[in-house]
Formats: sequence, structure tokens, C-alpha cells
Amino acid sequence: MQIDELLARNRAWAGRLAAEDPDAFARLAHGQRPFALYLGCSDSRVPPEAIFDVPPGSLFVHRNVANQADARDLNFLSVLEFGLTALEIGQILLCGHEGCGGLQRALGEPEGRIADYWLHPVRELVRTHADELPAEPNRRLSRLAEINVLAQMHRLAGLPLVRDVRRARPLVVHGLVYDVATGLLRRVAVDDGSGPRPG
Ligand SMILES: [Zn+2]
Repeated sequence: MQIDELLARNRAWAGRLAAEDPDAFARLAHGQRPFALYLGCSDSRVPPEAIFDVPPGSLFVHRNVANQADARDLNFLSVLEFGLTALEIGQILLCGHEGCGGLQRALGEPEGRIADYWLHPVRELVRTHADELPAEPNRRLSRLAEINVLAQMHRLAGLPLVRDVRRARPLVVHGLVYDVATGLLRRVAVDDGSGPRPG
């Protein structure tokens, strides 16, 4: 799809939204009050607003390869800080997915590419959870998606920023896995401040 068609689609979309909700863009121009911070994978098949069927202004979003909550990632930390402090968001949607290319890569041998450095923590997860990972490739990848989401929930819970927020007010983290083959989400775990537990 080329730029002329994309711009035409944009005009049509903006017209539809304005027709459905005449005040929508005026409200959005005034500011944002998203109801959740979404942390997910960059995969094109997992578009956050689409899978929750919510309009612009709903989600404050950070995406990266294999949905990592990496304390070395200034981009992620900046989004988290703004979302939790300035926007005072009370829930985080941490979303992994089936068929994740990043996780698939972490199950194989490193090839010296940039992504291999990024995915090093996932390789560590594969090593430390080796006895929980089925041998069958699809089930192996699916289980790793759940383990990875849980691991990122633990990482989030340990961040000083998250601890500080939780001393002042409630913050819930929902760990989810999206199935690209069905369009459906399942909840893997929830953490209301007492640590991730099965959702
Ligand atoms: Zn992915």
C-alpha cells in the first residue's frame, strides 16, 4: 500500500470517526486521559487499539521486540514514567502473543545480530525455564510467550518507579497473551501489588 492510498484512507477514517462522534477530535485536542498503559510486541499482527476495539486516546503505548520491560531501555522507562506519574494511569496491559518472531529467535542460536543482544534476557529465560518448555515447537513457543509475560511482570514489579507509585495508589498489571490465529486474548496473570498470580 502506497502513500497516496494511505493518505486517502486517513481522510476517510477521520471523516468516519467525526461522523460517529462529532466531539471526538475536539476532546483529543484538549489532552489525553488513557485508561491503560499498553506494553506489547512490535509485531504488525498485534495492533493494540484494534485488538481491544478502543478509539484514539484510550491507550498509552510502548512496543518493542518480544514485549520486554527492560530497565536498561530509556524509551520504555520514559513511557512508563510519563504514563504513571503525569497521566496517573492505574492499569498496565502487558501483552505477549502467539507466534512471536522475537521469542522464536531466542529459542535458536544467536547470530551476532543487534536483536540477539536485545533478546539476551529471553535466552536466559529459556535456559532457566528449560524444564517447563515442551519439546513440540508450537507448544514450546506458546509456553515461552506465557513465561515471558510473567517475567516482564516480575521486572515491572521490581522497578523503583513502580514501587513508588504503589506506595501512593493502586496499580494493577494484567499479563495477557494474544493469539494471532484467532484474534483472542487470554489472561495469564494479574498483579495488584502483591506479586503476579494466575489470572
Ligand atoms: Zn512478537
